[in-house]
Amino acid sequence: MLQRVAFDDLEVGEIAIELDDREPQEVIAWALDTFDPDAIAVVTALQAEGMAILDMAVRLRPEVRVLTVDTLRLPAATYRFIEEVRARYPHAQVEVLSPDPGAVEAMELRDGRDSFRDSLALRLRCCQVRKVQPLVRALDGLDCWITGLRRDQWASRAAIRKVELDHDHNGIVKLNPLADWTKDEVWEYLADHDVPVHPLYAEGYTSIGCDPCTRPVSPGEDDRAGRWWWETGAPKECGIHCPIETGGFEHEAHAILGEDR
Ligand code: SF4
Repeated sequence: MLQRVAFDDLEVGEIAIELDDREPQEVIAWALDTFDPDAIAVVTALQAEGMAILDMAVRLRPEVRVLTVDTLRLPAATYRFIEEVRARYPHAQVEVLSPDPGAVEAMELRDGRDSFRDSLALRLRCCQVRKVQPLVRALDGLDCWITGLRRDQWASRAAIRKVELDHDHNGIVKLNPLADWTKDEVWEYLADHDVPVHPLYAEGYTSIGCDPCTRPVSPGEDDRAGRWWWETGAPKECGIHCPIETGGFEHEAHAILGEDR
């Protein structure tokens, strides 16, 4: 039977202070020791940071749960990479989450298949239906999720801590073990540990999402510039890390745009 573990703000605040200077592996080890194996998962789109976290977690617990979302619009290379990851980590429980087919069909009938190009609102709706909702359903059964977020990836991530209480998702614990790592540190880890990397990095991509919403970046561009590149000023987020329902996304948008609201 699942042993549920929950913390309050004060407790998580104390744990965060204790673990904020620790190495990512120590943070992950704390979580794996603390939560029921079925109630903790690495949640990743299998990008560089997620692969580093996955590798660290597997070294500590080979059969760790790993959740990734198939939005049904992923690049062909991502589907092949999922199989490569499964082959490399045969004991890890890699679970591919899918959107509700009825919700996708209803959205496409109403808005069109590529409505994400028409407005930010329609893009966010597409991300909600295809990506955020399946993840939120999965998070519902967890006490802790582990992400590969880093503070210097984007303004909306600048204040993350290694251990947080995720009030946007039932108050479960959100772990960001790479919060203070740089991109170079991530790639150094991947090389040192011979971790498989998504093949699109070799084609100039620096952040990889759905096929129609991701492009390679040019030299000097921000790493997330290839995500939803036709939008100007909007946060390069899908909504899972700053949820739309609670106003988190809008808050981050205004912070980034410098609007006083
Ligand atoms: Fe839809 Fe694009 Fe978001 Fe994928 S990244 S869910 S295709 S808007």
